[in-house]
Amino acid sequence: MLGVDEEEAAELLQGAVQITWSPADETAACLGMFVITMLARTFSNVGTPADPNICTSWELIINSAQPLAEKAQKLYCTIDAKRFYCGLGVDDFHFVERRPTKILCLLAASFCAAQVTNYVLNLPRGRVSRQGVLINFNEWPGVPLETWEQEADLGALQFAGVGAVGNAITYALQHLPVRGQAALIDPKPVSHGILNRCLWFDENDIGQPKAIVLAEKAGAAASKLVFTPYVKTVQQARTDLGEFNCLVVGVDSRRARRNLQNEMPLEVFDASTTGVTEVVFHHNRQFNGHACMACIYHETEAERTFAHHIAEMLNVTVEDVAEAYISAAASEKICARYGQLVPSTILGKAYDSLFRELCATDKLMTPEQKQVLAPFAFVSQLAGTVLAIELFLRRLQPSRSGNFNYWRVSPWRGIFTDLQQTRAQKSDCEVCAQSDYKWLAQEIWKQK
Ligand SMILES: [Zn+2]
Repeated sequence: MLGVDEEEAAELLQGAVQITWSPADETAACLGMFVITMLARTFSNVGTPADPNICTSWELIINSAQPLAEKAQKLYCTIDAKRFYCGLGVDDFHFVERRPTKILCLLAASFCAAQVTNYVLNLPRGRVSRQGVLINFNEWPGVPLETWEQEADLGALQFAGVGAVGNAITYALQHLPVRGQAALIDPKPVSHGILNRCLWFDENDIGQPKAIVLAEKAGAAASKLVFTPYVKTVQQARTDLGEFNCLVVGVDSRRARRNLQNEMPLEVFDASTTGVTEVVFHHNRQFNGHACMACIYHETEAERTFAHHIAEMLNVTVEDVAEAYISAAASEKICARYGQLVPSTILGKAYDSLFRELCATDKLMTPEQKQVLAPFAFVSQLAGTVLAIELFLRRLQPSRSGNFNYWRVSPWRGIFTDLQQTRAQKSDCEVCAQSDYKWLAQEIWKQK
């Protein structure tokens, strides 16, 4: 039913969970299907109302549905147009009549999936709160329901990288009334290691260019958003596309983000994930005087330490990792440690991407042989959903961009608007503080 073969199932976590809703409840069904779509990328056994798995140890009950897995421990979830709750207790909920729009169900589904994952895997205490997660949609996104029916013209977008976060953004955009043109830029093919974080990709796509697969699938789902694939690097695509007026960034590393800001886009929407811990949203526009993407992702001690860690794990030097992409000599060294890899298939791949893929398929050999938590689809999807909502709302109401330019959201803890920040430009930023950066940007964008 989940469309996985035995080999793939073996690599999913050996968890079982039942997701239960009443078939008559359209909102619950919408939320439930989103939860299942995400959890099926993580767990080997996810039961639905139509095909229940009654022997699970955990069952998620949506909107007071009748339980199906009698002996399972229960998690409860309720959602309406104003708020969403998921946790161990039964919420004292007074339903309003209006149903939430699909995009809010998708947003809520990431938090549901995190609660379920926490309890099924029995993750260390402290990742989730005993009170569960409670989200008031009036606080964020904070717009009347009518807003979700207005069509927004997104204009021309350039997606830099269409891996996990790029998948998630386009997955969210199909549930918003948007029109526009999106260039999907990614030189690499779909690989096995990213399947558990990419909702659009499956086994049949392995080896096909990510940009082409995503343009076909996301294009078929979003009627007024036209996707054009570019199986190229961002620098190569710039020759075809000219200046980047709005880069939508979903690349793997801080370093790659700094390089992208150097392309001097007029505007940047960026979303990233910090392992499984949290997601980060960032938006900037030239000449607004606030932080650029390189200010946000400046080189840190942690990054230097992480580069050391990647070098150690992949059997290469820190200097190799600093080059960002795997050279022929480095590919030989990596394959000497990881016999399942072939030099020609990893040549030219970003170090950060290969590292994450090895994490995801649990192939990474740590000196202590301890299990590395694979990245979860619901974390990437939360990053993409937050970005898509802000992009949509900021196009409808440009002044919204003044609210914040940086926001961290935890899939485990819920939404806290007091974490929304307006970060200032860094006086020593390696990109926007360069003496000719502002002058060049003005030359490029003076007519815009
Ligand atoms: Zn900067």
